[in-house]
Amino acid sequence: MNKILIRNCRYLVTLPGSMDGMIENGAVYIEGSGIVAVGKSPEIEAQYGHQTGIDTLDAHEKAVLPGLVDAHNHVGEVHSLLVPGWLEAPLTGIIDATDRMYWPAYNWLTEQSAYDLTLFGLLNVLKHGATTHADAMIFPDAIYRASLEARARTIIQPQMITSVQLSDARDEQEYLAHTEAAIRNYHAVGNGLIHVDVHPSAIYNCTEGMLIKGMELASKYEVHFVTHIAESPDEMDRLGALFSDRGGIIQYLRSIGLLGPRTILFHGTLLNEGDIDILAESGTSLVHCPSTNAWFGYCAYLPYMLQAGLRVGLGTDCVTHNMFNVILSVLQHHNIMPRGLRRVDPMLIFELATLGGARLLGMQDSIGSLEPGKKADLITLDLKDNTSLFPLSPQVFYSMLALNGAGCEANDVLIDGVFVRRNSEFTFLDESAIIARARQWCDKFSIDYHRMKGANQPMFHRVHQEFQHHKERFI
Ligand SMILES: [Zn+2]
Repeated sequence: MNKILIRNCRYLVTLPGSMDGMIENGAVYIEGSGIVAVGKSPEIEAQYGHQTGIDTLDAHEKAVLPGLVDAHNHVGEVHSLLVPGWLEAPLTGIIDATDRMYWPAYNWLTEQSAYDLTLFGLLNVLKHGATTHADAMIFPDAIYRASLEARARTIIQPQMITSVQLSDARDEQEYLAHTEAAIRNYHAVGNGLIHVDVHPSAIYNCTEGMLIKGMELASKYEVHFVTHIAESPDEMDRLGALFSDRGGIIQYLRSIGLLGPRTILFHGTLLNEGDIDILAESGTSLVHCPSTNAWFGYCAYLPYMLQAGLRVGLGTDCVTHNMFNVILSVLQHHNIMPRGLRRVDPMLIFELATLGGARLLGMQDSIGSLEPGKKADLITLDLKDNTSLFPLSPQVFYSMLALNGAGCEANDVLIDGVFVRRNSEFTFLDESAIIARARQWCDKFSIDYHRMKGANQPMFHRVHQEFQHHKERFI
């Protein structure tokens, strides 16, 4: 059995959210995929360090942390980031962004390009210390293959959409069948490394029937139901008007059975206190993605969400962002938002980025902290020659990490007891080759996009208008 001792850790964070959870000169002992012991280094070494064949890592110039949990990302979409540079007018909101940027980019994907671009995205996810991530994309088979190759802990969330036809499914039935097949084939496989959720893309681009059938599917397999909500003003204004006679969009979702502990909402950027209270009461969870939300000029009311007792995790929502940047965004955005409740404590932000995400995903018994019995998912940050995280002390550790961690890459990344990155090198992935393939795909996307534009060809097929929740209302 694999045995790993990480010893002499200058700072070892075992339990995020508590100063008692930080050990100076700490050690972690791992067998197989699980943590056996954490504590002061001399004690752990005396008990376990004498064994032959043990893999020992000296961390006297490192901080050792639980792996970060990126609870919302779109890992295989890096090519889409080229599109804003080709547009005649800037994007005005999420509806416009899906129409002119994301759906043309997603619809261009194939099984092979989705696989290669997911591998590229995983380089960025892992390099920046997210040992668990949720990936809302099309092509779940490609995500599965890439995730296993990278040995990344992945929650596959196959996007289902009824308002447009994208390249991996034709209609509502096919999307639902696609997701069900992904659950049957991949959920909880790979020693529990891979999970699958049910993911109607958003309230505005799925019919009510799809939303309800999606929840039925999630209930049948006891997985999460996840969707985007209240991301930008163009969306929220329409939803507010459409559901004013139902008490607003959140009341409407509750009335059709879509809220509860099974549900995870992404963003909630424009939700008010009343909406947040309903979500908290229902046991619904929410992923806060401040870095991308800022593109559309808003920021979710996180301090109130936390006060209301809403279960919150953090997400990047963009493949080239990273969780340290998200932590910085949380630190800064909530300090300057003109609201009654402001500021989020840096230690709490780190807790949201680890245990918070784990709780939201229902994985708090296995990840999110470094405790005996949990999975060995951890990262190290190199403190030698580090001019950002300097000077460090236990008292300033979390504030320095929140403010200056954004420039850091994880030195070592351990997932399920396996080093997927060691001494700043990937152990399974050929980084140069993956980046070269991603560059080729982006070049091809550029050529294909401009050829189609030049020929006036549609970039995707529209099936019905957005916001068509009730067929009797909108047809
Ligand atoms: Zn998203």
